[in-house]
Amino acid sequence: MAARLPVARALTRLSRPTALSPITQHNTITAHNRHNARTFSRSSHHRLMEMSNFTENQLTVRDAILKVTEQFPDEYWQERDRTETDPTDFHAALAADGWLGIALPEEFGGSGLGISEATMMLQTITQSGAGMAGAQSIHANVYATQPLAKFGNQQQLESTIPDIISGKTRVCFGVTEPNTGLDTLRLKTSATKSADGQSYSVSGQKIWITCAQVAKKMILLARTTPLEQVKKPNEGLSMFCIDLDKSAPGLEMKKIRKMGGNAVDANEVFFDNYQIPADTLVGAEGQGFKIILHGMNAERCLLAGEALGIGYAALTKAATYAKERVVFGRPIGQNQAIAHPLADSYMQLEAAKLATYHATSLYDRSKDDRSITTHAVGVAANSAKYLAAEAAYTACERAVMSHGGMGYAREYNVERYLREIFVPRIAPVSREMIKNYISTQVLGMPRSY
Ligand SMILES: Cc1cc2nc3c(=O)[nH]c(=O)nc-3n(C[C@H](O)[C@H](O)[C@H](O)COP(=O)(O)OP(=O)(O)OC[C@H]3O[C@@H](n4cnc5c(N)ncnc54)[C@H](O)[C@@H]3O)c2cc1C
Repeated sequence: MAARLPVARALTRLSRPTALSPITQHNTITAHNRHNARTFSRSSHHRLMEMSNFTENQLTVRDAILKVTEQFPDEYWQERDRTETDPTDFHAALAADGWLGIALPEEFGGSGLGISEATMMLQTITQSGAGMAGAQSIHANVYATQPLAKFGNQQQLESTIPDIISGKTRVCFGVTEPNTGLDTLRLKTSATKSADGQSYSVSGQKIWITCAQVAKKMILLARTTPLEQVKKPNEGLSMFCIDLDKSAPGLEMKKIRKMGGNAVDANEVFFDNYQIPADTLVGAEGQGFKIILHGMNAERCLLAGEALGIGYAALTKAATYAKERVVFGRPIGQNQAIAHPLADSYMQLEAAKLATYHATSLYDRSKDDRSITTHAVGVAANSAKYLAAEAAYTACERAVMSHGGMGYAREYNVERYLREIFVPRIAPVSREMIKNYISTQVLGMPRSY
């Protein structure tokens, strides 16, 4: 019951008339789009998925998020992708209604809900047509702040969380490095404490950092004790919540041109003796890997939900097109070669959905139920991310093929979904590494690397 109040509060905010975003108001609807608007009902985005067995909170979140996403139709995301422009007004709309604090503590202005509701929020966002770009514009604010909320001290929480929730401060997550990749424990970025203990000097390089151009804060994982001096490689890493002051000496970044999700930036970030105050350290020095794992399992759950959303959106578009497109005198969906792969994708997505919300439930319940181990949460979250990303990728590929030539046309959106659905297959952990993890940690096979 405790969780209902904040959602209701968010809903009350939403029930106030909300101004349309400038982009929505200006949207030029071409003749072709007008045709799409007639044949592709926007509400059809949300119909395919079986909705039974979700909690009241999850359904409430879904309904409320749909009210926000309705203001940002496919045309908005097409334009943002084409012009590579940050969806600032989308981020602001979610912040205005309090959604960035969905899984943050109530005492700092959050809703105090869990990853089960946050995953539903991100699934609803991607499913609306916002795709990975929409999700990536906010998701680090949700998952990267989980370890901060759990391990940060009172002063850190008071000085960061309210601004993150209000949208004043955007957050990015700085883990991946160019020379170590998935071998996270060997990352080379160092944070060296000054002689007076008042600051750290950060040197090294991060890569693929989403939203670093627009973020004011970074959740950073860096080595505070050299690898050669620790007993185990997972020791000696520390987590910081740092300012990304682009005007300060020792910090540079460079945008990466990429295949999809072009509305959000991805970056190489270079630190060269960048100075950070000592009180940006979150939790104990040297324990950063264990701390950040808390965010990583949440991230896998959210990414699973995001993938599901794109998969259902693609499948809905494919099924709609297959019913309406007539060739050889009958709808193409009457051919089983078109219908059966789509039916198969529906079942794959539904199965992945069960795995995803099982993982989110374990994640949330593990906070109070000691019988749910970190291992159980990790296995469930990794499995869900894998299954959802694969099911959604297959659905997107089939959606493009079901549209024939029109699948390749930007106006039909399915090519955008296909470009974006590669992300949850690669990040935050690849398919191969999840299989390595299940092979060794569940099946007890010898480690291959
Ligand atoms: C769009 C996008 C956004 C991202 N955003 C962020 C972000 O905000 N913050 C952040 O920190 N990172 C981010 N990442 C990085 C992402 O998490 C990494 O790309 C991912 O973890 C893979 O690491 P890598 O690219 O270095 O691959 P590599 O480690 O170089 O691996 C390359 C390939 O080799 C395979 N491989 C490697 N070792 C093994 C092995 N032992 N067995 C089998 N296969 C193996 C991998 O599975 C992969 O297929 C993002 C990436 C993308 C594409």
